[in-house]
Amino acid sequence: MTNIMNQQQYIELEDKFGAHNYKPLDVVLNRGEGVWVWDVNGKKYLDCLSSYSAVNQGHCHPKILRTMTEQAQKLTLTSRAFRNDQLGLFYRELCELTDSHKVLPMNSGAEAVETVIKAVRKWGYQVKGIQKDRAEIIVCKNNFHGRTITIVGFSTDKSSREGFGPFTQGFKIIPFGSPKALEGAITPNTVGFLVEPIQCEAGVIIPLAGYLKEVRTICEKRNIVLILDEIQTGLGRTGKLLAEEHDGIEADLTLIGKALSGGFYPVSAVLSNSEVLGVLRPGEHGSTFGGNPLACAVARTAIKVLIEEKMIENAASMGAYFLNELKGIKSPKIKEVRGKGLMIGVEFFSEIGGARQYCERLKDRGLLCKETHDNIIRFSPPLLIKREEIDWALERIEAVLNED
Ligand SMILES: *Cc1c(COP(=O)(O)O)cnc(C)c1O
Repeated sequence: MTNIMNQQQYIELEDKFGAHNYKPLDVVLNRGEGVWVWDVNGKKYLDCLSSYSAVNQGHCHPKILRTMTEQAQKLTLTSRAFRNDQLGLFYRELCELTDSHKVLPMNSGAEAVETVIKAVRKWGYQVKGIQKDRAEIIVCKNNFHGRTITIVGFSTDKSSREGFGPFTQGFKIIPFGSPKALEGAITPNTVGFLVEPIQCEAGVIIPLAGYLKEVRTICEKRNIVLILDEIQTGLGRTGKLLAEEHDGIEADLTLIGKALSGGFYPVSAVLSNSEVLGVLRPGEHGSTFGGNPLACAVARTAIKVLIEEKMIENAASMGAYFLNELKGIKSPKIKEVRGKGLMIGVEFFSEIGGARQYCERLKDRGLLCKETHDNIIRFSPPLLIKREEIDWALERIEAVLNED
């Protein structure tokens, strides 16, 4: 045995020396393969969170792993002071796949969000002729776009923003899912509308079909940039490559991250269908690690396996199956079951005292998931999950709901 510490000792170590900015379930993992992960005692769990959809391709996908180790032995970082042999290929493959014209590579999702904020503001001043420092960006209530000061400044979630001010100016908040609210909020200074196709962190909030289509029309008509944050909904999660496809539209700017590397490495990107990214000139934006050859090589393979192994189609069919079976569970505790593809939310009545207790009990039975806000559990397993594995999960979910 190489483990010299027991599970409790790992937990104590984290709690003693680490900042307490998360409240994790007390399971200490040290191995993963596909939809499964193992704890330090060798107990096996079905991962129904997929690291917030960063491991859509499953844990430690062998092909991505091979690329990672091969590229790591060749070249990892050049900085963008020089060029590298992976970046152009990464750009081209991503553009061809998503029908985009330009890509700007970053690392975390929040950095991609910050990048578009800069780019659309500059576009507003340069192309739209907005007066200096007047640009406005419209965002939605209950949004989640990351954790930087600018981003939490336009969050409506108390714990995300309270105590962190002062914040960045220039954002306007409207209700999610209302094209009318968008119309009403646009002023001559508006440069863009930043929105998630599904509000995953807010608890898998799905707008009415056609919402994005109406939004697309409004943005076009009023000459504002439509920015879709597909960092969680993108790359197959909802049963399409990008969730915008459900409404048959294309955003001007699309943000992807998380599963772009299959969980191996932080890689994010801004995809542009318009000339917005063209306003950025040398020296105006950058990142030491953004676009590095290791990230690009890993992302190229992560995208390749997503397509080649038909994970997107599987997310659509298995997601429909999982959703339907969950809807079939008769429990007085469940208020609503909703989802698209393998992004599924189960909302409980608040009277039951929070969803966390069910996450704990599911953990004991070998299923890992996490509550989002108090009363909702998100089920978002890796996209290669099989029907038998969903049945395995359903048995445990039903058993836990039938207790007491
Ligand atoms: C996770 C997430 C982000 C932030 O990504 P990080 O890599 O954690 O910075 C932004 N938007 C959405 C919709 C996300 O789910």
